[in-house]
Amino acid sequence: MLLPDGVIDPDLGRDDNGGRGGATFMGTIYFDHHATTPVDPRVLEAMLPFFAETFANAGSAHGAGRQAARAIDRARQQVAALIRAHEDEVCFTSGATESNNLALKGVSRGVLPGSVLVTSAVEHKSILQTARVLAEQGFGVTRLPVDVQGRVDLGALDLALARRDRPFLVSVMGAQNEVGTLQPIDRIVSMSADRRVPVHVDGAQWVGRVAVDVRKTPVALLSMTAHKMYGPKGVGALFVRREFRDKLCPEIHGGGQECGLRSGTLPVPQIVGFGMACEVAAGRMAEDNERLTAMRSALWRGIQRICPTARLNGDPVLRLPGNLSVTLPGVDAEVLMLALGSIAVSSGSACSASDATPSHVLTAMGLSPEECAATVRIGLGRYNTDAEISTFLETLSDKLRQLHGSPDASQGSATGWASPDSDHVRVRTNR
Ligand code: PLP
Repeated sequence: MLLPDGVIDPDLGRDDNGGRGGATFMGTIYFDHHATTPVDPRVLEAMLPFFAETFANAGSAHGAGRQAARAIDRARQQVAALIRAHEDEVCFTSGATESNNLALKGVSRGVLPGSVLVTSAVEHKSILQTARVLAEQGFGVTRLPVDVQGRVDLGALDLALARRDRPFLVSVMGAQNEVGTLQPIDRIVSMSADRRVPVHVDGAQWVGRVAVDVRKTPVALLSMTAHKMYGPKGVGALFVRREFRDKLCPEIHGGGQECGLRSGTLPVPQIVGFGMACEVAAGRMAEDNERLTAMRSALWRGIQRICPTARLNGDPVLRLPGNLSVTLPGVDAEVLMLALGSIAVSSGSACSASDATPSHVLTAMGLSPEECAATVRIGLGRYNTDAEISTFLETLSDKLRQLHGSPDASQGSATGWASPDSDHVRVRTNR
């Protein structure tokens, strides 16, 4: 279903079958849900009254202000409920980049210079660059290696925790944004707890996608962002465990909002949207993940059929349900991405739009620069359909033939890039 530019199908997400109209936005089949997600219609609906009707400052004492403050309270409950936190443990921020900065810099302020931060080689730039700034200020930084599937090396963590100069914080992401690998956070938290080292988790790709329970997994700090879970951009939160509150110094000073942890007038519509996104995610996570896993399996089978030498990156089982990171030997992923035109996927070769170096994540997992350049990341989401998977596979097969002709037997199939046969083109993922 093609919609005119900028128009979101108003029925998306409203019908009983979860809005299986497809994720076709602005004429694009959208398979890049790790970059961002569309705003769920229920989220948009919840936000709208807070732009021009209930627009007062949530910090104002008059009735209109108190109405806005009540909306913030409700959103705080919704966010807390998703991760089973207490409401007073949720500090709203502008997103996961800010939450990560607040977590790392905020804890570092209370410890001696020279103390060590432990993180991993596959973190998002908002962690790695913040760690670099801390290193420039005299802190030690240990970057844990990962295995070929992108999982943090627990032996290396054990060694880092056993150092005489005990680390002041361990910071590891919950789910990897390029290859989808879920990190062994429970294990990391229990190993760190044995050495009385607090753990921060970058949950940008984790919270809202898989079940997270901070009562069972006692992290000290957890970064979240709304725009990876069908909420608006520009809002997120840092979970700060009650017992850890006095270990964290604010980074942004001013009017003392968010209990003094993060000053600045609260963006009520964004926060309301974030709260609703959390409520929706909690309600449909199991169903979404079942569908996504089935669609992803069908997609991977289809890709293997077209390109028998294709390799899956990341943990084959312990991964985000909607993630497929695939290396297609001999294929230039950037060129393929452009050729796919109205199908939005992401290439694995660049860390960011402005950075043409091979992905630090794939490199840390042992991929060569050539393999990085041949890697495509597909991020399926809530509104994708079986029909879109079929269209993708047909288009992929056509484009590989156009771009590469008949590859030699060492790259594609012996007879050239295979067509997805009817079994694979007519993808069925049980709905
Ligand atoms: N951490 C991870 C793992 C991410 O994938 C991202 C976004 O791509 C971020 C942090 C930054 O999140 P935000 O866009 O909310 O600043």
